[in-house]
Amino acid sequence: MENDCIFCKIIKGEIPSNKVYEDEEILAFYDINPAAPIHILVIPKKHIESLAKIGNEDEVLLGKIHRIINKVAEEKGFKEKGYRVIINCGEDGGQEVKHLHFHILAGKKLGEKIV
Ligand code: 5GP
Ligand code: ZN
Repeated sequence: MENDCIFCKIIKGEIPSNKVYEDEEILAFYDINPAAPIHILVIPKKHIESLAKIGNEDEVLLGKIHRIINKVAEEKGFKEKGYRVIINCGEDGGQEVKHLHFHILAGKKLGEKIV
């Protein structure tokens, strides 16, 4: 937990969020500024600054996050139609919130493919 981290505050309930999934290690909630009809953020409750800061001990957690992404996709009904998962990392990657998060974008045929 980091005191000045927005996502740690969301985890602690100090900032409200529209939750989609929660367990002891992971939280998923709707993005406040959606970039697609469905825009969900999936975060570890452990404060990890970015993808560049993960450690060996995080391997299982990172695998689990992908399983939860699929679970959310199934429960919210967009698993069959498809979705895009994005991690912005660091300054050049456009990361604004310095707490590792996975964007799930869905609900339309997404354009602007970069890769
Ligand atoms: P980044 O640009 O760091 O990859 O993505 C950060 C995301 O967090 C942005 O899409 C932004 O809209 C979202 N965000 C920032 N502050 C809040 C907040 O207080 N609540 C929610 N639900 N999303 C937030
Ligand atoms: Zn944090």
